Amino acid sequence: MALSTFVSDRRRLTTGETSCEELVSFYVDRIASRDGRLNSFLSVDGELALEAARSIDAGLAAGKDLPLAGMVVAVKDVICMRGRQVTCGSRILKGFKSLYDATAVRRLQEAGAVVVGKTNCDEFAMGSSNENSFFGPVRNPVDTTRVPGGSSGGSAAAVRAGLCNVALGTDTGGSIRQPAAFCGVTGLKPTYGRVSRYGLVAYASSFDCIGPLARSVADTAYVLGAIAGADASDATSAPVPVPDYVTSLQSGVTKLRVGVPKEFMGDGLDSEIRAALEATTKQLASEGADIIDVSLPNTEYGIATYYVLTTAEASSNLARYDGVRYGFRAGAGESTDNPADVSELRQLYVDSRTIGFGPEVKRRIMLGTYVLSSGYYEAYYAKAQKVRSLIRSDFDSAFESVDVLLTPATPTTAFEIGSKTADPLEMYLNDIYTVTANLAGVPGLVVPVATHSDGLPIGLQLLGKHFDEETVVAIGAAIEALRSPFTTDDVND
Ligand code: GLN
Repeated sequence: MALSTFVSDRRRLTTGETSCEELVSFYVDRIASRDGRLNSFLSVDGELALEAARSIDAGLAAGKDLPLAGMVVAVKDVICMRGRQVTCGSRILKGFKSLYDATAVRRLQEAGAVVVGKTNCDEFAMGSSNENSFFGPVRNPVDTTRVPGGSSGGSAAAVRAGLCNVALGTDTGGSIRQPAAFCGVTGLKPTYGRVSRYGLVAYASSFDCIGPLARSVADTAYVLGAIAGADASDATSAPVPVPDYVTSLQSGVTKLRVGVPKEFMGDGLDSEIRAALEATTKQLASEGADIIDVSLPNTEYGIATYYVLTTAEASSNLARYDGVRYGFRAGAGESTDNPADVSELRQLYVDSRTIGFGPEVKRRIMLGTYVLSSGYYEAYYAKAQKVRSLIRSDFDSAFESVDVLLTPATPTTAFEIGSKTADPLEMYLNDIYTVTANLAGVPGLVVPVATHSDGLPIGLQLLGKHFDEETVVAIGAAIEALRSPFTTDDVND
């Protein structure tokens, strides 16, 4: 069976050429034979997936309307599924099983999608390379000496290597878009509040978004349509009507105003990525789009603001891992680096967190605690909140004159495993083009557009107005159409 997008698998399902069971068993076999070195999955439940597939086939035979039947999904392991382990790539959740399903997963399943497994990620989604997982790094399927990006690196690698149709990832500062660019797949971060966060383990609650990674813009549109919309279980999910994104794919680009922010084209941008962006703007112009230079003047403060605010939120969100309520507990005597004798409660907290969290998570808890501490709060946290407002108004002003922004997704292509781990600041700087969308809450789509001379994919980013994913996917589809269709020919197995 050939590897393809959900849309074409779905077509073959409708004509009776294949069944849901056949599709699921194809992917389950592929994971078994190809994921060893990539390390993109943390858990796979083939039996459960096949059982779900058979019941979808039976539902279809009985005439049920299941718009996502045939979709085989991988879920980033920060998203809960009832009765299944959720590790967040961390030792501290060892053995913890979710008590309920995330709304996004439940909505996919109700529409007929089948989940094959949970994907590897940076610990608590903190990272840009997927090297911060307790369960080892994920490798980029296009070049296994390179990182897949992070923190949804397992989801991006699984989609790229053809181990599922689509995957759910999460994006707090770029974790869907940056790995999508590094692995050569499509990734969509919805508007903050567009998709319920119920069942997503919190990193930075005012930033976190769930969204799809896929092999085509159309596939992301199908996923978004199913998972978007208000949810009584998440007060931050927005009561904004959900349009039909699949119809928007056909809208075209004529007369659309596409802004290119000059702050995204400065020093540090790889020259071939710049050239790919310029070539894309030319092509869009020839199809009738207006290309307009714009400015987002506070972009340079994005990284600092992001890392002050997200670490502050993370230090509070991660306070709950105390060795008592979830997963790992120091002194359980399970291995030599887990001291067997913790007789005092405070020591239990300290040891559980010391052993249970990895170095990057600890760094962020300390940074976050610092910026929130009395005496420093005004200078860091309060000030960063003000800069966040300025960044948001940059976007509001830009969107007065354009419909969408086109930018690079990353300053470089995927870097080598180990090349940035010694210098956290260098790692953080990699997020320069993605974090401002989360600070402002706007939607962002990354579409692969070209291959660099180093053989790695180049992705470009489209940023839209709040709740205007329709325009973003319309332009994304037009950009995608300029390229040849997705293949896995260049994937190194
Ligand atoms: N790389 C960013 C960080 O480390 C983004 C992470 C994310 O979006 N989850 O925080």
